[in-house]
Amino acid sequence: MATPPPPPPPPPDTASPMMAQYHAIKAEHPDGLLFYRMGDFYELFFDDAVKASAALDIALTKRGKHLGEDIPMCGVPIGTHEAYLSKLIRKGFKVAVCEQMEDPAEARRRGGGKTPVERAVVRVVTAGTLTEDQLLDARSHNYLAAVAEAQGTLGLAWVDVSTGDFQVQPATDATLGPALARLAPGEILIADKLLQKPSLFETFAEWKTALSPLPAARFDSGNAARRLEALYGVRALDAFGAFTRAEVAAAGTLVDYLDLTQKGRLPRLTAPRRLAPGAVMEIDAATRRNLELTSSLTGNDRLSLRATIDRTVTGAGARLLGQHLSAPLTDPEAIDQRLDAVQFFVTGEMCRAAVREKLRRCPDVERALSRLCLGRGGPRDLGAVRVALGEGPGLRVALAGADLATAPPLLAECSRGLGHHTVLVERLTRALADELPALAKDGGFIAPGYDPALDDLRVARDDSRRLIAALETRYVGETKVSSLKIRNNNVLGYYIEVPAKQADRLMNDPGTFIHRQTMAGAVRFTTVELSDLENRTRGAAEKALALEQDLFRDLVAEVTGRADDIAEAARAMAALDVAAAFAELAVERRYCRPVLDRSTGFDVRGGRHPVVEAALGDGSFVANDCLLEADQRLWLLTGPNMAGKSTFLRQNAVIAVMAQTGSFVPATAARIGVVDRLFSRVGAADDLARGRSTFMVEMVETAAILNQATERSLVILDEIGRGTATFDGLSIAWATVEHLHDNARCRALFATHYHELTALAGRLTRLACHTMRIREWQGDVVFLHEVAPGAADRSYGIHVARLAGLPAAVVARAEEILVMLEASGQAGAVTRLIEDLPLFAAARARPKPAATPAPAPAPAPPPRPSAVMTALADISPDELTPKQALDALYRLKALAEEGP
Ligand code: ATP
Repeated sequence: MATPPPPPPPPPDTASPMMAQYHAIKAEHPDGLLFYRMGDFYELFFDDAVKASAALDIALTKRGKHLGEDIPMCGVPIGTHEAYLSKLIRKGFKVAVCEQMEDPAEARRRGGGKTPVERAVVRVVTAGTLTEDQLLDARSHNYLAAVAEAQGTLGLAWVDVSTGDFQVQPATDATLGPALARLAPGEILIADKLLQKPSLFETFAEWKTALSPLPAARFDSGNAARRLEALYGVRALDAFGAFTRAEVAAAGTLVDYLDLTQKGRLPRLTAPRRLAPGAVMEIDAATRRNLELTSSLTGNDRLSLRATIDRTVTGAGARLLGQHLSAPLTDPEAIDQRLDAVQFFVTGEMCRAAVREKLRRCPDVERALSRLCLGRGGPRDLGAVRVALGEGPGLRVALAGADLATAPPLLAECSRGLGHHTVLVERLTRALADELPALAKDGGFIAPGYDPALDDLRVARDDSRRLIAALETRYVGETKVSSLKIRNNNVLGYYIEVPAKQADRLMNDPGTFIHRQTMAGAVRFTTVELSDLENRTRGAAEKALALEQDLFRDLVAEVTGRADDIAEAARAMAALDVAAAFAELAVERRYCRPVLDRSTGFDVRGGRHPVVEAALGDGSFVANDCLLEADQRLWLLTGPNMAGKSTFLRQNAVIAVMAQTGSFVPATAARIGVVDRLFSRVGAADDLARGRSTFMVEMVETAAILNQATERSLVILDEIGRGTATFDGLSIAWATVEHLHDNARCRALFATHYHELTALAGRLTRLACHTMRIREWQGDVVFLHEVAPGAADRSYGIHVARLAGLPAAVVARAEEILVMLEASGQAGAVTRLIEDLPLFAAARARPKPAATPAPAPAPAPPPRPSAVMTALADISPDELTPKQALDALYRLKALAEEGP
């Protein structure tokens, strides 16, 4: 038998108009993957396909050829594409979504099959610009941030695209890290030039996967200012506050990026608010990690402080709580306002229960609103607005029931913020059906009775369907073919189908039944009557759907037209949720209201660690006081392993964070002078991913503390210096204690196993020694977890090693060695050293007056270049605009006037 000839090779790709279109679109989006819509799939080609198939673990196939090579291809179905999109974004990709902009039939009509369907990128999805619930964590903010530099200072801008909250702040090399740690942005826009700045290497290393470098030209502050002025319709940005040029550059670049990725559809953005320097407690990334504020050291978010204390009942409430906890305030009056609101709900138990019950029913109106504003919303988003705003009056009544006249200002503000949306809620309630589809294009979401024209069309559509069913019954009667059916498909539309064996009965009546198709077991017909009915049905259904789309647009316009008021209501609900949740927590876990002032005191009575207490269960945690006062600003804490030193250190830091967040705290009483910066160095953690050893990490973090702590700071240091040889470690710990005591003068808790350091108490007037109490009983050690004045003389490390199951022989040998080491008197040597070494000898060393003739003077060092000369050397005239040149001239003149 002759084999059929092989199919001809596909034409070279250059001839394919579709591929030409693909290349043109891809060229405009080189740094992301291109999701190219083809029917019911998003297809990826070439390198994009190779990368995406590996990242998504899906099959890599091929389609046609390009320059003689197979074109790699993979695809994801439209119906489930969000799951794939989310995986790609999490892996650090950006995705340009390219849609078909016309009906394929239209393209066929236009180009006779030779023109590709018109396509365009409708959005670039990036980690910082997500709005879909499926791609976002409902209970966390997702920030897009931008960092810019101008006039030698840094500016940071950030926005949550899904809520429109837009803020800026000034920054320095030292404060940028803590600011980014506070926001934990999903994406950070940064000028490629700034990435090269050595003093920011450490900061950006933390955020490697979130960085989105852009050409430095995109951060021009002049363009940025114009961009923002146009966006907000103001002549000058001063209307919103005094911004630095760096802040303006960051904010403008951010807006520009939104415009680019959203393809011209900007989300609703609040006017940029400026966070003043020092307005929030500064907490660097290492401290956040060590204190496990939002995720535990093991990576389990459920064991974090945030998870332990979060009792909010809405997504927006959880986000606001997270935001507050990440940025504790430093103004005692502002903190008090928050605490007043919590107090109100602590006392008003019924009111709290009523408010929380109503809030529990509220969907996430903030995010629904942002999708509607971006033109990406659906009927369910309108439904969310209807339900959430519908709870407003009930919430107001619940609050009013608890005597709003005496309510704290924050709650009165919330009550006002809830606003009056009865007309909108009433309209949405009339307009929307009970069950809502996700997409407007599916139709069926407008309630019957809302629009008479739509009702008529639906009757016509449903009538025609009923008439078709009646027609089927009639044809069965007339033809006596009981299995006759009227069916419907995309190609033929409505048709009559009978089994092949009975087809003759219809064939014999060609005046009525017109043959359409013969299948293997069935034959299909149509009739004039059926075609008429079909036209009427289709017409009515299409018209009904089109009318529904119009009504949808009207409703969306009404909602987005009131976006500011709705957003304010959403904010009020979130604030109520946070206050009521903190109250719930305070009652449930017996927390007390802290007192905040501008002193530098720290007096916590009966303090507990909220997470350890929750893990141990009620009544098992031993409460401890912590009193950092004038004559004991620095506590040196010694004690055996496992006695609870780390827990005690952290609990006090955590109590400060909670208090300044505006929450009650796990203690019987707490009076805290607001902390400006919190530092914590706990335990030793390798950071191999960033190529730094345990000890290096420890020293980098300690350096940051010693350089930045102020009198208002709170410093927690746990076992500094343990990652190196004993004497190196002891020396570093020793010098650190001295520096904290004398230079930083901050409040500090310092836990150590170097018991030798306790001898410093004799010298350092503000240092107090405390120890974790234990009881030795029948050769065993019992940990009492109590902090008491005094110093420990041993670490009982070998005891803990025995508890941990070290082989008995090893434990016995360790005991022998310990006895020998103790007998050799090394500890005594250290104590002698403390007695002998003049305090701060090195720092205070001054040249003594010469008793002997002075040696011949050394040759004079070369003269240091003046500030003007140094500044001049940094200027490259070719890179300056005339304006910059003039600025430079002013700078030089100012330097010259300051003198050398
Ligand atoms: P090491 O020196 O070995 O690091 P440590 O002294 O820092 O130990 P922690 O890690 O703070 O000890 O505490 C050990 C365990 O003791 C904790 O996991 C906790 O279960 C328990 N614990 C700590 N403090 C208390 C307390 N105040 N009340 C009850 N149990 C506590």
